Amino acid sequence: MRQQLLQHVTELDAEDLPAYVYDLHDLREHAAAIHAALPEGVQLFYAAKANSDPRLLEVLRDHVDGFEVASGGELHHIQATCPGAPIAFGGPGKTPAELEQALQAGVDRLHIESEQELHLLTGMPGERTVAVLLRVNLPIALGPVALAMGGRPSPFGLDPAHLDRCLALIADDPRIRLRGIHVHLASGLDATAQLDLAGRVLTWASEWADQKGVELSEVNLGGGMGVDYGCPDRRFDWAAFGAGLHRLLEGHPQLTLRIEPGRSVTVYCGWYVTEVLDIKRSAGRAFAVLRGGTHHLRTPAAKQHDQPFAIIPVDTWDRPWKRPRAQDEPVTLVGQLCTPKDVLARGVQAERLRVGDKIAFGLAGAYAWNISHHAFLMHPAPRFHHLDHAPVPAGPQS
Ligand SMILES: *Cc1c(COP(=O)(O)O)cnc(C)c1O
Repeated sequence: MRQQLLQHVTELDAEDLPAYVYDLHDLREHAAAIHAALPEGVQLFYAAKANSDPRLLEVLRDHVDGFEVASGGELHHIQATCPGAPIAFGGPGKTPAELEQALQAGVDRLHIESEQELHLLTGMPGERTVAVLLRVNLPIALGPVALAMGGRPSPFGLDPAHLDRCLALIADDPRIRLRGIHVHLASGLDATAQLDLAGRVLTWASEWADQKGVELSEVNLGGGMGVDYGCPDRRFDWAAFGAGLHRLLEGHPQLTLRIEPGRSVTVYCGWYVTEVLDIKRSAGRAFAVLRGGTHHLRTPAAKQHDQPFAIIPVDTWDRPWKRPRAQDEPVTLVGQLCTPKDVLARGVQAERLRVGDKIAFGLAGAYAWNISHHAFLMHPAPRFHHLDHAPVPAGPQS
């Protein structure tokens, strides 16, 4: 944990907890490094659904080529927080109103998920043009991945067998400009696996385009760059990925590639900080009950993993009874909810954990607060802190 962050967390009072602390400085450096690792011809879009906190988006907008949104709500939000930023609109089940909204917003790309969407689009009045990518569920074996969106029967994207009918619909409507193909097949892949997949996608896409006489100018490879919650220091190798994409592009000089990661961009900058309310034993097992829980940080429940954490010892204890503690033993960290699913980490070895100590859960900057069931049990919401001590540039940036 960065010194400044540790200092901030140490100074938080119990009434300030639980709190989400976002390290904007860390986010800025990380996003800049990702962008720097990508070669010419590769554009970086950020998938807003991972975390759409406005302060994070404002940091990111200087380091990405645009934002990927998956709902009319996200579209509004990005327009309001990052006016003028290019937007790609994807996601299944777009309503007629959302498609209309996308046209009005003049989105940079619309990712088509189905024939139904194309029918809706061609039926819309007006002269507005729209650039589209066809999202395809390619028959590619994926092996073990954290989440599979394709490569098997799935509600996402188009079955390749339906592409011809889509091409016919597009050919009949001069307002729809086909730019290429979009895929987002899996989440949790490391750089080697992502590159392997990218190679197979590019081969498929160029053969398909040649066969169909489609001018392929763009392939969007999606997101899903892996995050290792069990080993937070083992990060996606952006340098190797960038170098690999550069090699792939050598075979396709006319092509622009896009990627749209979410999790791997913001996950590391977020911390969920809380305190130990109680420590108890049940049939010999130690449980630490924390203020808050998975209604604030659903990630470990959703992914069935142990959320990584740091213990920040608090030495003051002014109660007249013995301070409950766990010592050199496995402890299960649970929240305040009346359900056995409210577990943040299970049976993790703790050298020493006492009532009143603070716990800072890391990797809480993506799919964390925004995927949690906040209303369950009506506990108070966490506070949000945005740490940023990087010098503010004087005057407008060129
Ligand atoms: C969710 C999503 C992403 C981002 O995925 P991450 O795993 O957060 O990188 C990108 N593209 C599409 C279409 C998505 O649905």
